[in-house]
Amino acid sequence: MISQVPQSGSSAAVAVSGPNGRSGRRPGGLSVSVLALNRNFAAVHVISVRRAFCLLFKDLAEVINVESGSYYNYDFEGWREQSEMRIALGDRREEDDWIQAVNFEIQAPRIIRLMRYDRLPRNAVKFNRRNIFLRDEHRCQYCGERYSSARLSLDHIHPRSRGGGDTWENVVCACLTCNVRKGGRTPQEAGMRLLRPPVKPTRSPLICRHLNQEKYASWRAFLKPAGRG
Ligand SMILES: [Zn+2]
Repeated sequence: MISQVPQSGSSAAVAVSGPNGRSGRRPGGLSVSVLALNRNFAAVHVISVRRAFCLLFKDLAEVINVESGSYYNYDFEGWREQSEMRIALGDRREEDDWIQAVNFEIQAPRIIRLMRYDRLPRNAVKFNRRNIFLRDEHRCQYCGERYSSARLSLDHIHPRSRGGGDTWENVVCACLTCNVRKGGRTPQEAGMRLLRPPVKPTRSPLICRHLNQEKYASWRAFLKPAGRG
């Protein structure tokens, strides 16, 4: 966690404008996320853009920006100048978010690096129903159909009644029909086949949710492939 890092800071950032900065102010709508890296460029957390700017103002973090496949780092002033240049050049992309401060606009960074923070990311993803559904993308691992959470169940591949454990490798999403059909048998015994071998996820569902959005594509370079070979 980044709780060591002071949370208070300048209040210069006040609103996020939409794509191309044209959609006006949305006070309080600072819902843009920023990937925080530790000093050694390991992804440690997802934070709000407001918090990211607080860290930048205090020189506790720098912006890491991907430009034409290369990585550039900026302190707050450098990033502000870069933003001004982009405004002057009309170089705003649809996927960018912009922060409207009192008398200037600045692009929302996608990634920051915490220069004094060297703890490692938390590796353990909580083993629970929600995260299993997220790992399996709400897809029954037997028939391959997608369902809402209400219509999915958890299936123990090796049945619990026969010693099968509550582990990432032994529990998958299954629709009710497939779960009933399989009953207290192994997939082999039931003549059913898993879509893919279940593995323990290597990253949090929160990060996964963002990774599905194109505007956070630059995060991918800092995250190990998900828990599938
Ligand atoms: Zn099914």
